[in-house]
Amino acid sequence: MSYIGRFAPSPTGPLHFGSLLAALASFLDARSNNGQWLLRIEDLDPPREQEGLKEKFPEVLEAFGLYWDDELSLQSERLEYYRDVLQQLLDSGDAYRCSCSRKEIQQRSGNLLYDQHCLLHPPEEGANCAIRVCCKDSLISFRDIIQGPHAYNLKTSSGDFVVYRRDGLFAYQLAVIVDDYLQGITHVVRGSDLLDETPRQIHLQQLLGYPSPAYAHIPVANNSEGQKLSKQTYAEALDCSHPAPVLYKALQFLDQEPPAELQQGYRDEVLEWAIQNWDIRKISAVKGKILQTGNI
Ligand SMILES: [Zn+2]
Repeated sequence: MSYIGRFAPSPTGPLHFGSLLAALASFLDARSNNGQWLLRIEDLDPPREQEGLKEKFPEVLEAFGLYWDDELSLQSERLEYYRDVLQQLLDSGDAYRCSCSRKEIQQRSGNLLYDQHCLLHPPEEGANCAIRVCCKDSLISFRDIIQGPHAYNLKTSSGDFVVYRRDGLFAYQLAVIVDDYLQGITHVVRGSDLLDETPRQIHLQQLLGYPSPAYAHIPVANNSEGQKLSKQTYAEALDCSHPAPVLYKALQFLDQEPPAELQQGYRDEVLEWAIQNWDIRKISAVKGKILQTGNI
């Protein structure tokens, strides 16, 4: 079986140790399966983007020895595909226009679960609208390679969700499944903060007749207060000058039990050991782990 994996960061903050975990795990899983590994920059939200970051991502990955196959791809170059898919969903009646604001939804239903108001009362032509996808009142289940079986009822957990925003941007959910399909992705290895997004992605894949890739959600790294490392929690940008010890620490975090002598190894020795010995089944089936602080 051919294997195509990917790493898909968004340029809203610098790559940090948490990003490296997702990059490394997806890279090692692809390489140890003789697969391809693609780099995709998810630059769909220009207002949240940081200037110059997407040019920097490739440099950081190269510094860590994580070389990707093919040209790197940018979501901003695929807008016409997203537009076509959106139209397809509208034409099939699986999606509809919605002019409600968050405030209106909250006032009507007491929470943010959408009440299908605009499905029953379509907004006027020309109104500034988001586009929502209809969800069925049934379970979407999948078996995550790391986190095990999961089942969600989208009707009660998320409601009809937005695939195109009122501010004119495509939602992550839509772009990611179109990209995974166009790029022939067979395996998605990423942080567990995206586990709850998976059923919505599978729902869209089913509506569009796309195959679903296999999913593996690794534990995210939390700081000592239990918060996920992210731009919001001021996670430090990766230091590219000493990649080997950082890679070693990432392998420890991913429960790969690298031998102590590798701690003094060169970058490529660490990576070579990791590809040879990668075992995704060793990774703990937890959503997050505290990162022991040290020199990273
Ligand atoms: Zn509405």
